[in-house]
Amino acid sequence: MAPTAPQTVAFLGLGAMGRPMAARLAQHGPTTVWNRTPGRAREHQEAHGTSAAQQLADLGPVDVVCSCLPTDVEVRAVAEQLAPNLAPGTVWLDHTSGAPAGARDLAALLADAGVDYLDAPVSGGTAGAEAGTLTTMVGGDPDALDRVRPVLAATTGRVVHVGPSGAGMAVKAVNNALLATSLWAAAEGLTALAAQGVPADRAIEVIATSSGRSFATDTLIPERVLDRSFPHTFALSLLAKDVGLAQGILDDAEVPAAVLTLVDELTRRAAEQLPGADHVELVRIVEQQTGIELSAGSSGS
Ligand code: NDP
Repeated sequence: MAPTAPQTVAFLGLGAMGRPMAARLAQHGPTTVWNRTPGRAREHQEAHGTSAAQQLADLGPVDVVCSCLPTDVEVRAVAEQLAPNLAPGTVWLDHTSGAPAGARDLAALLADAGVDYLDAPVSGGTAGAEAGTLTTMVGGDPDALDRVRPVLAATTGRVVHVGPSGAGMAVKAVNNALLATSLWAAAEGLTALAAQGVPADRAIEVIATSSGRSFATDTLIPERVLDRSFPHTFALSLLAKDVGLAQGILDDAEVPAAVLTLVDELTRRAAEQLPGADHVELVRIVEQQTGIELSAGSSGS
């Protein structure tokens, strides 16, 4: 049997996540990239062998459209323009972290053009995008998902179908609310320990093999805070957006949510206080309030 040709892909949005994801897709098969700022698409073409579309109208029919934009609002604006160019049977894989209701609206809009929309937000950060090890949580038609598994294999280590349209967005929002919660709690706890004379790296040595461990204590604080590097990989404003989406999901379900409501408020306020900051920099808010800086070997005493 002759091997099947790889699916053609259009990738929309070359931000921190989109750039490495599209680069990996280009190794899998023909990939055209589009970005609001067209210079980034041209740079991507030169660096990764993708084809750059200068305008959305330049994108012809493809098997799979992937998008990775800030929210479902930007995806909708792009989808309204692009839908007439797409052939029935196209699958739209939306890697944006957006609102579940926005995903359901997009699915309905694109269904009118015969396009199957899957909300497929990702977790794993820019490092996971570069390594192709992202976790993808998918909402929508499982048959449409099966048609794009070869494309997802280029960017993803794990794909989980979590439910109907919007379910992927809901899982992503709650996941990131948990990330924010553990990061705030770790910053507060480690700062208090520093005031007790326990250096943060020593405390983390204990927590790493104890029941309080989290991604914040395993990775984010040791690798980004203690060395004071705070690399910019995921904007604090985007994390605040995600926690806000989780708050909406909790409200819709009428779940009493004292903890996450507070985390939503704190994270929103931090994003206002630190415009342009990376998400890990919310630790700086706790540091500013206490005058204690978390760094390797230092303590507050
Ligand atoms: P970035 O801010 O790095 O990139 C945003 C992208 O969206 C850019 O390509 C930008 O284009 C484009 N864009 C912004 N506004 C518009 C608009 N109005 N119309 C069209 N395009 C627009 O974001 P990330 O790559 O970090 O995040 C993208 C999505 O992925 C978000 O939903 C985020 O929550 C999620 N995510 C991010 C992770 C991370 O670690 N960074 C991890 C997992 C999920 P331009 O170049 O013109 O500004």
